[in-house]
Amino acid sequence: MADRDGKIWMDGQMVDWRDAKIHVLTHTLHYGCGAFEGVRAYNTVNGTAIFRLEDHTERLLNSSKILRMKVPFSKEELNEAQKAVVRGNKLESCYLRPLTWIGDKKLGVSPKGNDIHVMVAAWAWGAYLGEEGMTRGIRVKTSSYARHHVNITMTQAKAVSNYTNSILANTEATDDGYDEALLLDTSGFVSEGSGENVFIVKDGVVYTPDLSAGALKGITRDTVLHICQDLGLELVQKRITRDEVYIADEAFFSGTAAEITPIRELDRIEIGSGSRGPITEKIQTAFFDIVNGRNPKYAHWLSKV
Ligand code: PMP
Repeated sequence: MADRDGKIWMDGQMVDWRDAKIHVLTHTLHYGCGAFEGVRAYNTVNGTAIFRLEDHTERLLNSSKILRMKVPFSKEELNEAQKAVVRGNKLESCYLRPLTWIGDKKLGVSPKGNDIHVMVAAWAWGAYLGEEGMTRGIRVKTSSYARHHVNITMTQAKAVSNYTNSILANTEATDDGYDEALLLDTSGFVSEGSGENVFIVKDGVVYTPDLSAGALKGITRDTVLHICQDLGLELVQKRITRDEVYIADEAFFSGTAAEITPIRELDRIEIGSGSRGPITEKIQTAFFDIVNGRNPKYAHWLSKV
């Protein structure tokens, strides 16, 4: 990924993709304290626009705040940086990756005395869990790894270190032939995927775990809450057990990368009809209408680059 043309925004400068480097003694590389975002820009009916840019930048700053990192750029500067990266790489639609990290002035667990750095990169990225999965649904395995307890690495921070847990869960599931993992919290209740929030549908009602199960407060999750309201669907946030997923009529993941991905199986048990369900399809269609600028109600969520 490092050897390609393009531009990356680093600490206020646009640098050539190949020159966007850091030192091996970078604090975050050793101890994992950093925060990042996953953001998407879509080629909307009104041109290229970043979806919910303000919300993603706010979460990046909040994640950094939770991790006690003082980011030396304002929200406005970070918004502009993201737009500039999309423009600078001439991308019509793309995934954006902003990251905050602790520098290389000193090592030792205490980060005090180090600078906080920020970068934004962007590249074209299609369906995260595969094009086929978007219509057919994906196969998921309950992970043997628990999701972080809410008082461990802070589950409302999109912290770099939280993703070791995600990597372990995803690798275990994909090594076993599944597409993705479903993690339970430390009490055994459904939390989320390795990089997605999860929803189930039962008797026409949509359910998602409440955030006490350690799931990230996903921006796509919030978009789904709005869509459910628009479609007149009841949405309940509550504790969910894995067997409730087995006997659900439908299930799906939400996330910036995963968008709305139907789940057709959990632990080799077919969910509902074993393919994308009708309510999932309605929510997915409404989602793509919003992100592609076809729903004027949500035009304010699209920041033109
Ligand atoms: N949970 C985790 C662990 C994630 O990494 C993501 C992706 N950011 C999500 C949920 C979904 O969040 P969002 O919809 O804001 O992308």
